[in-house]
Amino acid sequence: MARKKKNVAKAILMDGSELEYVVSDNPPRGGMKHTYFTPNKKFAVQFFNEDKDANSPLIRARLENIIGLYNPTLPESEGGAMGNTEQTAKYFSRLFCWPVALVELPEFGIVCPTYPPQFFFDKKASKAGLNLAGKDKKSTWFTSRTSRFLEKGELGTFQTMLRLSISLARAVRRLHAAGLSHSDLSSNNVLIDPKTGSCVVIDIDSLVVPGLFPPEVAGTKGYIAPEVSATMELPLDSPDRKLPCAATDLFALPVLLYEYLLKRHPLDGPKIYSTASTEEDEFLQYGPKATFVENPQDTSNRPPDLQVTIHDLGPLLEKLFLQAFVDGMHDPDRRPTAAEWERALVKTWDLLQPCPNDQCSAQWFVLHDVNHPVCPFCGARIAPQDVLHLRLKRAIRGRRGQWNPVGEINLYDQMPLFAWHFLANTYPDEKMTDRTMRAYVSHQNGEWYLVNGSLSGMLSPRGSMVPPGQAVWLRQGEMFPACNHQDALLLEVLKG
Ligand SMILES: [Zn+2]
Repeated sequence: MARKKKNVAKAILMDGSELEYVVSDNPPRGGMKHTYFTPNKKFAVQFFNEDKDANSPLIRARLENIIGLYNPTLPESEGGAMGNTEQTAKYFSRLFCWPVALVELPEFGIVCPTYPPQFFFDKKASKAGLNLAGKDKKSTWFTSRTSRFLEKGELGTFQTMLRLSISLARAVRRLHAAGLSHSDLSSNNVLIDPKTGSCVVIDIDSLVVPGLFPPEVAGTKGYIAPEVSATMELPLDSPDRKLPCAATDLFALPVLLYEYLLKRHPLDGPKIYSTASTEEDEFLQYGPKATFVENPQDTSNRPPDLQVTIHDLGPLLEKLFLQAFVDGMHDPDRRPTAAEWERALVKTWDLLQPCPNDQCSAQWFVLHDVNHPVCPFCGARIAPQDVLHLRLKRAIRGRRGQWNPVGEINLYDQMPLFAWHFLANTYPDEKMTDRTMRAYVSHQNGEWYLVNGSLSGMLSPRGSMVPPGQAVWLRQGEMFPACNHQDALLLEVLKG
């Protein structure tokens, strides 16, 4: 007991409160900081490796802003970001491991929550006898060849990868909406849990805060935007030197999304850029000559055996990946925004189809083409009678009887539908409190039904009320408002 006491030190926080932490001989050490933990392991107390960082007024000012003014994990009423409610704060505190306090004594440092337990491997994670217990779940474990060492259950499915992709796009969108940029998004700084489909953005303290000098981050190979890689050797104050900013996050974000969804890196292909040296080859590959493996015009970096491609992810994601890695590869202004990624991913979620092959590695795929309902991961085919799409349309304001398509959903038996599938101006983001299932799809004996769960005012194609527990028969070619609400979307039953 006495020995344990000796190792416990006290940190005095900026607000005067005290926090105990356990001093260890070899604390985990990163590029800038080393880390101790509170006795209950709920918080990490981090100190800088170098005095110049600990004493830097710039670093202090940046961290004060990150913890207060720009903090999306704290409600505005408690000193967090403007417009942040308790609900949105709670939502984003699951997506970020955001610093919660500054340490004044014994020296300047920060306090962060520890990563939630699902982001650490347990001792049963490896089927190859690797001892992974306690290691954090960096995404390369799942998106590279190392995935073969993991138990199948660890790998998740295409559906859970899509779910965590939505979360990451949302997290980056939230940062950018506040004018912040992460500056070092990479497989090291986003932990993922494919099992539950969740992710958490860590190492928030290198955020670029508006009006303050950016931190000098080295970045991580493969995630550094080509223009940053290409100018890295120039002096920091050179006008040609490109520094991490929102536009460079918008390179790293789709790299991560591409890795999550397709389990490969968008720049790692067969092309040899230089035979002079490995360094030169790598510099060109990730910098000035970076070429997307799926560039449709320049196929010089395309692997010969690409089975699943961006085309298989549906038209929305295909378009954005081309925009990011062809148009925007060397032109940062043309990269899609995080909000565009979030929207496209959410809409793509609605096209998911369970794969009928229970040996399929992906278990789910995007059924975007009703004329070609084939799982790209394993080749399993869906029978034509088992395919049905609903197109969602929204009334054009002030133009009676005119509608714009707003989305398409791929139906499968027992598929749940929510408020945002039936009502315009309803979007499943952090502000959405109502996530109860409103209706579900039933596919029985070759027929399709939409069963009302709790959608008030649900209408049949003939306009009669459908109370909860009752169903609507969905027949190809029919078009009808989902419910009698003024924001009701029009549902069009498309070809099966
Ligand atoms: Zn399959």
